[in-house]
Amino acid sequence: MNIEENVSLKAYNTFGIDVQTRKFVEFSSEKELQQLLESKLLLDFDFFVLGGGSNVVFCSNFDGVIVHPTNKGIRIVSENVETNEVIVEACAGENWSDFAWAMTKQGFYGLENLVEIPGNVGAAPIQNVGAYGVEAKDVINYVVAYEIETGARRVFEAHECKFGYRDSVFKNELKNKYIVLSVGFSLTKTMQSKSTYSSLRSLLSEKNITNPTPLQVAECIAEIRNSKLPNPKEIGSAGSFFKNPIVTCSHLETLKISYPDIVSYPAGDNYKLAAGWLIEQCGWKGKRLGNVGVFDKQALVLYNIGGCTGKEVVNLAMAIEADVESKFGVKIECEAIIIK
Ligand SMILES: Cc1cc2nc3c(=O)[nH]c(=O)nc-3n(C[C@H](O)[C@H](O)[C@H](O)COP(=O)(O)OP(=O)(O)OC[C@H]3O[C@@H](n4cnc5c(N)ncnc54)[C@H](O)[C@@H]3O)c2cc1C
Repeated sequence: MNIEENVSLKAYNTFGIDVQTRKFVEFSSEKELQQLLESKLLLDFDFFVLGGGSNVVFCSNFDGVIVHPTNKGIRIVSENVETNEVIVEACAGENWSDFAWAMTKQGFYGLENLVEIPGNVGAAPIQNVGAYGVEAKDVINYVVAYEIETGARRVFEAHECKFGYRDSVFKNELKNKYIVLSVGFSLTKTMQSKSTYSSLRSLLSEKNITNPTPLQVAECIAEIRNSKLPNPKEIGSAGSFFKNPIVTCSHLETLKISYPDIVSYPAGDNYKLAAGWLIEQCGWKGKRLGNVGVFDKQALVLYNIGGCTGKEVVNLAMAIEADVESKFGVKIECEAIIIK
């Protein structure tokens, strides 16, 4: 375990924000994680576990310890020949999209809709990543994590993770209490996939694919994502900056009187509004404030025009939130994690 001092985080966050951390430590194995926790370093300093840095905005230098999991490894835990279920465990430091592609190509299905989401496996259960009609919770079987205070190892079953829309127990009552070491996924060898999401359906039908294989689903999703989301290697962003707000049916009906075209999707007994549409209606699409812009192909995405600071990102986000609330009476919340 090697602790570095005063390390730049520019290369460790996809927004490309140039801040420093006082201390930086990586763990590349379970043993190194145990050593880190035994050292009690994380009890003496503020700390933050940073995976691929694709969902964070640093507003200033971090006066504490950044913990960066780099542990690698993917293993088949069990295979059930009767049900075709395969349990696969992946280490927190594995790249999420590479893992999702590898499973899809290997014929272990369930992750095909989640390809091309930046970040690492360890972060997937934290916000229950989701895209194109599938969420990580649909495939997560268990999460192996270490309690920071005691150093105890715990295996969380899926129901204990209390997954919700971009949410889990790790963002609420267990926030900053555990470090994820690895995640177990229930995949299937049965060729099935979910292709009901509207833009995915349209692209499949444009390509005359009526009964897509999971690999074809993954390829179409990659194509759609590349056409409307910034490539983190070229443009700094945290992907969708805001969550889609959830409103009651009666609230939606009231909104429809003034805005008949409002974009909404059923979400249980309530409705999810397309935050990107709300932002666009407020005239923000393609606009900029300082060195941060609202992406012209998807208004949900804020991006780094060049050398932006976290404070500039927050200022733009606040201006957008205020406009959406004043026009629609709807509060939109940040999906990205702001680190003050
Ligand atoms: C272009 C782009 C597109 C995106 N598209 C999507 C999308 O379609 N769907 C979606 O859901 N998200 C999307 N995101 C957001 C982001 O990719 C996900 O939230 C991803 O899971 C973050 O992974 P990360 O490793 O980068 O986590 P980080 O940003 O480093 O951290 C996110 C959170 O997870 C915690 N964390 C990370 N690793 C661990 C660990 N091992 N143990 C404990 N806590 C940990 C961090 O402390 C933090 O709270 C997108 C982002 C970008 C830049």
